[in-house]
This record gives sequence, C-alpha cells and structure tokens, in this order.
Amino acid sequence: MQSITEHKGCRASAKTGRASCGSQAGRGDLPVEIWERVKNHPCYSEDAHHHYARMHVAVAPACNIQCNYCNRKYDCANESRPGVVSEKLTPEQAVRKVIAVATTIPQMTVLGIAGPGDALANPAKTFKTLALVTEAAPDIKLCLSTNGLALPDYVDTIVRAKVDHVTITINMVDPEIGAKIYPWIFFNHKRYTGIEAARILTNRQLQGLEMLSERGILCKINSVMIPNINDDHLVEVNKAVTSRGAFLHNIMPLISVPEHGTAFGLNGQRGPTAQELKTLQDACEGKINMMRHCRQCRADAVGLLGEDRSAEFTSDQVMKMDVHYDLEMRKAYQKRVENERVSKVAAGQKELAGVSGEMSAITVLVAVATKGSGLINEHFGHANEFQLYELSTSGAKFVGLRRVEGYCQAGYGEEDRLSVIMRDIRDCHAVFVAKIGGCPKSGLIKAGIEPVDQFAYEYIEKSTIAWFRAYVGKVKRGEIQHVQRGVPPRWPGDRISAA
Ligand code: SF4
Repeated sequence: MQSITEHKGCRASAKTGRASCGSQAGRGDLPVEIWERVKNHPCYSEDAHHHYARMHVAVAPACNIQCNYCNRKYDCANESRPGVVSEKLTPEQAVRKVIAVATTIPQMTVLGIAGPGDALANPAKTFKTLALVTEAAPDIKLCLSTNGLALPDYVDTIVRAKVDHVTITINMVDPEIGAKIYPWIFFNHKRYTGIEAARILTNRQLQGLEMLSERGILCKINSVMIPNINDDHLVEVNKAVTSRGAFLHNIMPLISVPEHGTAFGLNGQRGPTAQELKTLQDACEGKINMMRHCRQCRADAVGLLGEDRSAEFTSDQVMKMDVHYDLEMRKAYQKRVENERVSKVAAGQKELAGVSGEMSAITVLVAVATKGSGLINEHFGHANEFQLYELSTSGAKFVGLRRVEGYCQAGYGEEDRLSVIMRDIRDCHAVFVAKIGGCPKSGLIKAGIEPVDQFAYEYIEKSTIAWFRAYVGKVKRGEIQHVQRGVPPRWPGDRISAA
C-alpha cells in the first residue's frame, strides 16, 4: 500500500515543474510560464516581496474546523494573526476597497481571501468577491487560503474563477498528531472529533492538493510548527505535499500567548525558537522551496509584506475616496519597478563575481533594515523588523526575519529596547542601516555587532556581498579573527506585531 508520504501519483505537477525558485531572487531554473506567474507575487517569490504588495479582504467569516491555536473571538489563526479582529466586508464593499487600494498602491498585484474564517466555508461570498474583482480589475492575481476540508468540492469552481494560487494549511498527515491540533471538524452536516476528524481532514487536504496540482494551480502549503506536537512530523508533511505537486512550503512559528485565549495559549504550549524554526526549514529545503519571509498577515492586510496600511482603507475611508481604476498607470508603474529590479539583480551579480573566486568556508549572518525595493533604506531606530541574510562565497541568501520593537520612540532612543534588539540579533555579525545614532552605534559595537551605514540607500545584495568580501579579506590578512556568533534568540512570539 502506498503511504501518505510516498504518494507518486502527481509528483511535481507537470504544469509547474520542480518548484525551484519560489523563494529566491531571480528566475533561477523556473520555466518561463511559471516565472511569469510568480515574479510579482510577494508571497511566492522572496524577491518580489521587496517590490510588490498584496491585500486581503475579510469577506469569509465562518469556519468549518476548530484549531487549538485559534480563538473564534478573533480572526482565524490559520491564515491571520491570532488576537486580531478584521473589519468584515460584503463582496461589494470588498471590490470597492480593492480598487481604492489598486489606485493608491499601484504595486499591489495580488488579492487574497484569507478569512477571517475559511474562504471555502463561505463559498458564496468568496466566489462573488473574486468574480467582481476579475471584472473590475483584471490584472490583479487572485489567491485564496483554506484549511482544505471543503477543497475537493470546489476545485472546478476555483479553476473557473481564475484563481492563480491557493494556500492550504496542512499541519499533519498523521491523524493521531492531528487529534492533538484539531478538537473537531464540521463535515457533511456532522461534527466529527478526535482521530476520525483528523483523518477526514488530512485525506481531504491531500486530495484537494492533488486535484489543484493536476489543474495547474500553484499551491503553497502553510504549516504551523508546534513544538513537541508536530515539529519532527513536519518533515513527513513536507514530503507528502512535495510529492503531490505543492510549489512552496511555508513553515510558520506557532504564536501562543494566554491573552489570545487559544487552547494552546491557555495550556502553556510554547512556540518554537528562531533556531528551531530555521533548522526545520533547512531540513525541508531541497525538493521544494521554503518560504521564509511570511509575516503571518491579518485577514485584512494591505501593503508590502511587513507594512500594515489597512488603517488607511477602512470602509468609511474607502467610501470617501475618489476611486478610479487606471490600468495604464498601474502598468507604467510596474514597468519602472521591473527595470529597478533588473538593475538590482545585475549589481548583485557583478559584486558576486568578485567574491565567488575566494576560497573561504566562512559564513556570516547579517541583519538589514529595509522599507522595501531591495534597498537598505530604513533608519536603525525606526526598524520594526530586520531581514536576515546569510553571506558566503555563494552570495547573499535571505534566511528569515526578526521582528523588533523600534528603538526610537517619539524622537528618543529607548535604552531598554536597544538591549532587547541586540539580544534579538545577537547571532548577526553586522547590521546594515540607512542611518544610526551615536548611542545605539556604540552599544552595538560593544556587543560585537558592526553597525554598517556606508551603504545607505544602496541595494541589499550588492552591499552585503561587498561588505562580506572586505570581511573575508581582513580575516585572510590576519587583521581580524572570524568567530561564530551566539545562538539565535527564542522566537519572540509574544512581541510580534500585526502586519
Ligand atoms: S500570511 Fe504569509 S503567505 Fe499570506 S499574504 Fe501574508 S506573507 Fe503572504
């Protein structure tokens, strides 16, 4: 009998080919038609997330399962931040909001329906919204997120609705593990609990994934990493979804605090450390790309990943806006973005040519303060997150994010926050910023983290590789000694802010 993890029926969809660069900069060895579909999707392409924005519309309030990391007082924690409540919209309100955002933020290329419940537990609202958006804004790519329970019943509808990308949250392929995550599901007018519920759920999820892959829909799998419950098991999940044609796997840390009132939050279930998360992501990387830039966005998120502009687009504000969809303006803007992106890749490759001949096994981690566009363009004091790059003679590889509370508050630096930030990036050799004040600069130097501001407003890859080249040179000449830095911090789940 074929086991769940050894499925051979539709290994890497014929339409998608091997998912080889969903989270890397540039096209890599992706077929042209797949590259065209992911190149401006901020979640499916790590590089695109510097340049393109997405929005979610909260039109799907109901859900058909219960997860132990979710509290129904708030949005679904499968697809949005626990403890966050979105403004729920009708399909008509949602389409007006999409046009308002597309007019104001021309780099918004993707619309997703990600709750606040489950998109497919609310089929009428979900598909009506998608139809209205297709008519009003035909250049916007459509996505939806689901727990997968209802998925096999809606594959044809999803194809007809011209949905480009589907995210399925799959946390297990073993019902015994599933029973520890899902207390119940509601399926075919009946409530199921325990192992039986988890068995139905996993079968439906994998069946839905296979059906979508066969129809050429790009699928991303979200998995929530829950230490001592499914952490080791997610390697099996990774194999099971890879063999069924998933394009990208996004392993996210459990966010669990008592204030959110979730079963896991209340019973003290911890989230993973940053190191545990990275180790698991590294173990799963190979046959499928791992997404490492997910912000666990809220169900009404708007803007570049990592920024939250949803407050600018409440229903009241959208009703007052002069909403006019200008396709030509959007195309012209996106053309400029593409040109910038080409220059950025070329600059990085040129710098890499200088370092790739070096014989050195050194790898270092650096933190970068950025507001987007692939540039070092954020002040140290204003940064609410740092992007982490692993530097080696192979280049600069994006490996994750660290969220922090900004050092600068109302124009003044907060000493306590500086020590927390230094703790949160203590495994980094350097921090790249557009600007930094004297106090944090000397604090970082004392902590052994080099503040680097000479590459302000320059491209991240080019600048970090240039710095790394100089670093390796100093080590070779004996001017400095290379030492591995400390272990990464515990994942700061209780301090993650909504985006
Ligand atoms: S939750 Fe993750 S995958 Fe979804 S839009 Fe945000 S970054 Fe992308």
